[in-house]
Amino acid sequence: MFQNLSERLESAFKNLKGEARISELNIANTVKDIRRALIDADVNYKIAKEFTDKVKEKALGEKVLNAISPGQLMVKIVQDELAELMGGKEAEFNITGNPAIILIAGLQGSGKTTFTGKLANYLKTKKGKSPLVVAADIYRPAAIDQLTVLAEQIGVDIYAERENKDAVAIAQNAIKRAKETNKNVIIIDTAGRLAVDEVMMTEVANIKKAVNPSEILFVVDSMTGQDAVNTAKAFNDRLDFNGVVLTKLDGDTRGGAALSIQYTVNKPIKFTSSGEKMDTLDVFYPDRMAQRILG
Ligand code: GDP
Repeated sequence: MFQNLSERLESAFKNLKGEARISELNIANTVKDIRRALIDADVNYKIAKEFTDKVKEKALGEKVLNAISPGQLMVKIVQDELAELMGGKEAEFNITGNPAIILIAGLQGSGKTTFTGKLANYLKTKKGKSPLVVAADIYRPAAIDQLTVLAEQIGVDIYAERENKDAVAIAQNAIKRAKETNKNVIIIDTAGRLAVDEVMMTEVANIKKAVNPSEILFVVDSMTGQDAVNTAKAFNDRLDFNGVVLTKLDGDTRGGAALSIQYTVNKPIKFTSSGEKMDTLDVFYPDRMAQRILG
């Protein structure tokens, strides 16, 4: 993940080798290379340009300290700005309410069901909660089967109604079940489509209205680059979600989605997911991710 971006940034900083101080002239190539590296990582041009303008302004404004070389200074500035671009600080995750209600939305194949299992496992094992997972996909019986298998694997209860074609009613009935069985968090896995679709959006928006979740998480496949950002925008316009889950970071993702989503929809990435094992859910820390990108 991010390997190409990391290598490209590292090589951009080499332009400054041997320079005693930063000047407009000697950072010109570095800045240009950083911008190209971002664009090749699938960050859109406008974001990349704004980013490098900021880096340049900061670099020229810095007093050069004897202890730190221009190259090191640029690494630090870029790292700070990357963290800032991804939201700055860790976002809060709101699980208030009894039961707390978490709604999961996203396209089909983005990793919603897998994430639902991982989140339930995380809340159970790391936060001492007793979750109920809810299969509210009324179109694909296989989605219910998949969540049933995951729920069994992690030892949490599942709520599903195979014959009911009303996703809102299923969600409401699940809340009743949670109360009856003393579950304090419910995670509702909704139906996705292959592309943004009005019926799907209306259905998720109706579930939102009916159950008033404390968190709506939008799940997106990080491998889909700028499409991920466009999809995030479409979902956010309709659902006003609280946070993003970036999946498949174990794949060969170039990084564009991670770097652009916060800027585009002004919502933080809250979790990332790498792999299909139930214990690989990670809380997202922008500063750690920035550090990882810069190796
Ligand atoms: P949904 O249609 O949104 O519910 O997506 P699924 O959870 O069914 O995931 C779609 C496919 O992606 C499945 O084959 C999952 O095993 C796989 N998948 C989900 N999350 C990850 C991940 O973080 N990494 C990898 N490599 N595969 C994932």
